[in-house]
Amino acid sequence: MAYTVLARKYRSQTFDEIAGQDALATTLSNAVESGRVHHGYLFTGTRGVGKTSMARILAKSLNCLSVDAPTASPCRECESCRLISEGEDIDVVEIDAASNTGVDNIRDLRNNAVFRPARSRFKIYIIDEVHMLSTGAFNALLKTLEEPPPHVKFILATTEMQKVPATIQSRCQRFDFRSIDVDTIAAQLRRILAAEQVEAEETVIRRVARLANGSMRDALSLLDQLLAFGAGKLDEALVEEILPTPHDEIIFELLDCVAGSDPAGALHGVERFLSSGRTAERFCEALLDHLRTLMVLAVCGEETDLADVPGQLRIRLAAQAGRFDAATYVFMIALGHELRRAVKSSGSSRALLDAAVVRLAMSEQFSDIKAALSSMAGTPAATAPAAQPLASPRQDQPAPKSTSQARSPKSTDSPSGQRSTAATPAPAPACRPNVKTADRDQVMADPIVRKAMDLFSGSLVDVRASAEAAAVTDDRSEAADDAEGAN
Ligand SMILES: [Zn+2]
Repeated sequence: MAYTVLARKYRSQTFDEIAGQDALATTLSNAVESGRVHHGYLFTGTRGVGKTSMARILAKSLNCLSVDAPTASPCRECESCRLISEGEDIDVVEIDAASNTGVDNIRDLRNNAVFRPARSRFKIYIIDEVHMLSTGAFNALLKTLEEPPPHVKFILATTEMQKVPATIQSRCQRFDFRSIDVDTIAAQLRRILAAEQVEAEETVIRRVARLANGSMRDALSLLDQLLAFGAGKLDEALVEEILPTPHDEIIFELLDCVAGSDPAGALHGVERFLSSGRTAERFCEALLDHLRTLMVLAVCGEETDLADVPGQLRIRLAAQAGRFDAATYVFMIALGHELRRAVKSSGSSRALLDAAVVRLAMSEQFSDIKAALSSMAGTPAATAPAAQPLASPRQDQPAPKSTSQARSPKSTDSPSGQRSTAATPAPAPACRPNVKTADRDQVMADPIVRKAMDLFSGSLVDVRASAEAAAVTDDRSEAADDAEGAN
């Protein structure tokens, strides 16, 4: 007998069986029971989280032939139930928008939709990856969604909600499918292994569950791979041989390298990630997910429920989260976002990834440069013309009290944020009497400046204060004046 892949063999058949989407399943089953089924649904979520399974279960609930009205517990036996499960029912049309993007496909659908269903209560259109439709196709679909015949239901599914026009979204009831947590995936894997009568070490189950990255389908296809190799028990040795290192493990280690200012280690992390067959875009997603989790843990503390991570992993992540400050996370996430955009529109994404991780791992040096530049800018007003106009009104006006707070959001734009905030008035009294004239030779003698020159292939043209640094200078002299005034 031919081997049926696990995802198909064990596809959820009822609302109760859908793993990890309990709230959505309850809402839909209540809608069916109370006869309040909407004419259009929009299921969104990453791949393999149960959208198609849920769509088919809803279709069975509406069309099950064993009862006289829609039921939240379809029989699974009647012709309608069986054929819907196989995706082959005459009244439940499944369309893959990825390969039927054109307006003609949707026109066919519209022309067809006016006819009553062949034998069931409803004609149901399940359109997968609906975001792939062309503009013309969306417009055609919109007309049907606005005034569908009473016997027609639409279930649209997408992995990229932002690409679905607002006009379509607003005519559907939206259901957001969550990524499935590791524990839920692991529990499902245990059930399936038991049904398949295969023994597996618990560590293997956890590893597969984590590798799946929230997708039940991915978990099951990994298990397919293991079963194809494994004679007898699934143990760790087999897993080491066959399965890639979990992507979150690679990103975890990569960020340890970043925290340890180890650009070479970070580059190896990129290599490991990509050599396991994952794409550059996937890398950006994984990096951003990981950074977001770390930032939430750093800001809200280990116990927060804003970060969706299970127990053991949470302890490790919380420890890593403490290696950066909030400002650095903001900076790294902004960089990751830019990176993702650049990667999408670039043919040389590998170079971009490598440059980005080197940039992250060398943030300390970059921030030293910035700190060095701003300390140079803190030299006397004589060499910093920009400081002059700012300095004069001070004579007549009291110092604005909130200048340092007002600047602090700006300082979050780089990891040097923590350093920049050192430009508060506190250390100021020592500054003014000690600053020397920053002449050209002295500036060039600074190794950090020379490093900056090397990195950016620059040359020294002038020494002057930036507007922000000038304001800092101003603050400092004010504070110095205040200090003197107090004496
Ligand atoms: Zn049935």
